[in-house]
Amino acid sequence: MTEPILIAGELVEGSGEPIHLENPKDGSACGIYSTASLGDLDRALQSSNGASDSWSNIFPHERARYLYKVAELVDRDSEKLANLQMHQNGKTITECRAQSKSCAAIFRYFAGVCETQEGAVTTPRSNNISMTIHEPYGLVGLITPWNSPLTMDAQKLAPAIAAGNTVLLKPSEVTPGVGLALGKLCVEAGIPPKLINVLNGNGSQLGSAIVSHPDVAMVSFTGGTSTGKKIAHLAAEKLMPVALELGGKSPNIVFQDANIDEALIGVSSGIFSSTGQSCVAGSRLFVQENIYEEFLDRLINIAESYKIGDPGCESTEIGPLATFRQRKIVEDYIYSATDNGGKILAGGSRPEGLENGAFFEPTILGDIDPRSKIFQEEVFGPVLIILPFKEEEELISLANNSVYGLACGIWTNDMKKAWRVAKSIKAGTVWINTYKLLSIANPFGGTKESGLGREKGREGLGLYQEQKTVVFSI
Ligand code: NDP
Repeated sequence: MTEPILIAGELVEGSGEPIHLENPKDGSACGIYSTASLGDLDRALQSSNGASDSWSNIFPHERARYLYKVAELVDRDSEKLANLQMHQNGKTITECRAQSKSCAAIFRYFAGVCETQEGAVTTPRSNNISMTIHEPYGLVGLITPWNSPLTMDAQKLAPAIAAGNTVLLKPSEVTPGVGLALGKLCVEAGIPPKLINVLNGNGSQLGSAIVSHPDVAMVSFTGGTSTGKKIAHLAAEKLMPVALELGGKSPNIVFQDANIDEALIGVSSGIFSSTGQSCVAGSRLFVQENIYEEFLDRLINIAESYKIGDPGCESTEIGPLATFRQRKIVEDYIYSATDNGGKILAGGSRPEGLENGAFFEPTILGDIDPRSKIFQEEVFGPVLIILPFKEEEELISLANNSVYGLACGIWTNDMKKAWRVAKSIKAGTVWINTYKLLSIANPFGGTKESGLGREKGREGLGLYQEQKTVVFSI
């Protein structure tokens, strides 16, 4: 059976080329999804025309009720959603279940923000009352990647709808299922159907057509930096605002005075969880010279002891990469690192006994030149590079030696040093004595080539709104 697309709340067969999915666990076929042609995109935009006007006129506390209902439905379908994601991107069932819960929590959070968002009455500078109110853009495009659709799609859908917009979600071709399922739940929750469009399809054609279309007033994108730049160019042509959550090459820094046991857990899960396919993966590790050898030995032991295998098995810690193509990308990065003098200290190969799937061992590389590709570029796989450092100053310059600025981890018991370093590192998020501790309540995004704008947090609603000043003469 071919899965439909969702146009103005109606399930229809798209007229684009269908997507044939492959389960990364073993290469087996796992579904066919129809895709939207450019004609379907036009139809979606026409059918949704004006829907945002009536939705945004509903009082925020009433809009919030629909979002609470979506959260309930996500909880109801939690196990189904977790399995859907697992089959399409190979994430472990444990992580998928946790993300199903987060998905519901994201809808709840933005229901709360929607209900409690305040405008402002500004201090007058003449005889007037001036107010700032928030209005939706109207029709927004939401373009998402494959690594965590349960949270990435929800992080865009929930605030965009709560803010009063019509949405046009284009999920990744690798994971078309979750976005479609969430779109259906939004309709089931009673959100006016004309507001909800989920158009699966190819990024370079359908994705860029969404960005360029004159009726789309804002785009929120999560994905790779090179795609983000293309989207920014297209958006500039029509002077349209964009939010870009892009890639990273985040430093994780271990000082000699750190709690080593805790740092080892944080560093290893910071890179190897989700098989390294996380934008905030702590993929560059800097360890202070005095503890370097001991830390590395223990880290190698951890990397070699992970249970790799069937993502559906609860004891599995590391599943496959999301696609065979992604594994090839990871392998090419490793060849390029070793060609440049890098040394494989752990992993570096496909694990034995799992030949049918897109599996790859947790890998640690040493002897890395900071000018090399492996130091500078995002791998998006279970690959950690490790470098020693002597002093704080040298460390800060090494850590900031990147076009990216998404996240950073600092491990130390000296809080003054932690604060100093946190302030010196160019990153959207800094974790101290923890890593990858993400919350929908914290604004999230990158500096430099890691992106533009901040999602999540109370301000995450404002991303999908414009401010309007209203002045009453008195
Ligand atoms: P891509 O940039 O390849 O794709 C992301 C989305 O953009 C997909 O839906 C894709 O469509 C679409 N797309 C591709 N080309 C275009 C285009 N020209 N115009 C419009 N849309 C387009 O990223 P991946 O899916 O490979 O995801 C991995 C990347 O995402 C990594 O770099 C990672 O760091 C980043 N990421 C960032 C996060 C953050 O919050 N900062 C979070 C998670 C991931 P399709 O694939 O269907 O062709």
